[in-house]
Amino acid sequence: MKREKASNWSPEFQRAIEESGLADDINRCMFCGKCTGICPVAAINPSYSPRQIIRELLLGNHEQVLHSEEIWRCFWCANCLGYCPSDIKYPLIMLALRYYALEHGSGKKYATLFTRFVKNAYKDAVTFQPGKPQRLDQIKAMRTSIGLVPLRIVSDKGKEEYRKLYEITGTLEWLDNLHATEEVPLKFSFETGKLILGDFKENRSNLERGV
Ligand code: SF4
Ligand code: SF4
Repeated sequence: MKREKASNWSPEFQRAIEESGLADDINRCMFCGKCTGICPVAAINPSYSPRQIIRELLLGNHEQVLHSEEIWRCFWCANCLGYCPSDIKYPLIMLALRYYALEHGSGKKYATLFTRFVKNAYKDAVTFQPGKPQRLDQIKAMRTSIGLVPLRIVSDKGKEEYRKLYEITGTLEWLDNLHATEEVPLKFSFETGKLILGDFKENRSNLERGV
């Protein structure tokens, strides 16, 4: 993909990163690569590199980053944060980039992949339970061998509280909006906790005008 020049920086994107409070973080990056070295996603997916993503952002290649699947790979284990010598909150940078991408008509096809886990969490208060009995037995045996209970157990009270969070934040409606297959921008409202379908063309022209 053709690289943008620094002069092609979108003022709106720059403002969004600054407002997120993460601009200083990005600028402190020393490109040491510890984040990539410690990341479990990078270990199994050679195309994924937190270090490279920060580098591309600093080069002004934000369009390339925002439209790529790479920003949807991180699962917030925070290993990178623990090892970063510059104390860069990389998982939060990913969060900010994902919201920004969705608001500008990109990434919904990747976000929908998460819905299964989020719906599991609504039902059981855990994102993943193995479906195959054989796999379940393996996991139980592995956990027991290191002194853990065979499976994580969430109390009924805990499940109820978890569901309440979904209701308060409008997460179920958020998920319903994600089912549309068309790539249109989604606006997340922190006030109402709702995702709203937006007008791609209007948002796009605002982006280009730096509004
Ligand atoms: S570990 Fe921190 S300083 Fe090093 S490349 Fe990653 S983000 Fe940058
Ligand atoms: S928080 Fe994301 S980028 Fe950092 S180590 Fe975990 S998966 Fe990798």
